[in-house]
Amino acid sequence: MVKGTIAVIGSLNVDCITRTPRVPSGGETLRVSSFDTGFGGKGANQAVACARLAHNKDGSVPDTMEIKVSMVGAVGEDIFGSDFISALEKDHIDTSHVQRIPDGKTGTANIIVEEDSGENRILFFPGANYAIGDDAKDLVPEDADVVVFQMEIPFQQVIHNIKLAHKKGKYVILNTAPATPLPEDLYGYIDCLITNESEADILRESSQPLRVDDCPAVCKQFLDRGVRDVYIVTLGAQGAYYAKRSEIGTINCKHVQGQKTKVVDTTAAGDTFVGALAVKVAKNGGKFSADPTNDLVFANAAAARSVEKHGAMAAIPYLDEVTPHL
Ligand code: ADP
Repeated sequence: MVKGTIAVIGSLNVDCITRTPRVPSGGETLRVSSFDTGFGGKGANQAVACARLAHNKDGSVPDTMEIKVSMVGAVGEDIFGSDFISALEKDHIDTSHVQRIPDGKTGTANIIVEEDSGENRILFFPGANYAIGDDAKDLVPEDADVVVFQMEIPFQQVIHNIKLAHKKGKYVILNTAPATPLPEDLYGYIDCLITNESEADILRESSQPLRVDDCPAVCKQFLDRGVRDVYIVTLGAQGAYYAKRSEIGTINCKHVQGQKTKVVDTTAAGDTFVGALAVKVAKNGGKFSADPTNDLVFANAAAARSVEKHGAMAAIPYLDEVTPHL
């Protein structure tokens, strides 16, 4: 069986979700409605999306190409860290590149949902995700064909390892979430850049929100800035738009419509979309198909399944939950 390998370099967080009728005042103790924990962080979510979209729900590998998924990141030497690693392994993810930080704490997001107002308040503690610091460390696994980055670990590590992955001949995917403007020279090291609409506005430093009609021009702008192969902007229920360089240097652009579905919770939609595309690239030998339309159809179908369920990681579908919808 042929093997493609995806490495996801990014964050691992435990979400602690408290639902309460209202937020207590200073000094007040309040009995709340419910408390749940869940594994998350954009890095871990995208690794799980890659692994699930390469496997059926029963763990079988449905076609001739097995995909190995490695998570690269850090957790604490605490209960959260141990449980996180076990959960990733259950999803067939190689965790040998997940560091345990001695005396460190796993990153957490304390999410307080105020039921009366419907407002969320989030207290984010990066913990082990930031323990690695800003001094450049080589994190790219040798065996990876495709390397996927987001922006929830120190920025300097992201920049250093994007350049390193490119130099090692890997296909580099960057999902700029959460967005911050990038150094101009970085674009030339990225094979595939994926943003949502608001991230696109931050990267192009535009005060005018992106409209679907603007996509052809905006997508081309990102390729002109240096993105090597494909730029994709996700458009929520409207799907996604891509611009891809052809072998003869022309640029092909296309809107690939999203799937109509009943929306319950969109939390992991973007992460599922990115994971789906990474799987397609890995299965295609470390590059996009010349016409990536079907790859985006698959990514929209996978992301549409994720919005039908509550939660982040819990909502990410397996391959056999997506294929009937293609
Ligand atoms: P993010 O979650 O990063 O903000 P988007 O909202 O653009 O990103 O969603 C990512 C992808 O998830 C979309 O490109 C689409 O495929 C899918 N998606 C999101 N919202 C919906 C929806 N309401 N109905 C169907 N698909 C959706």
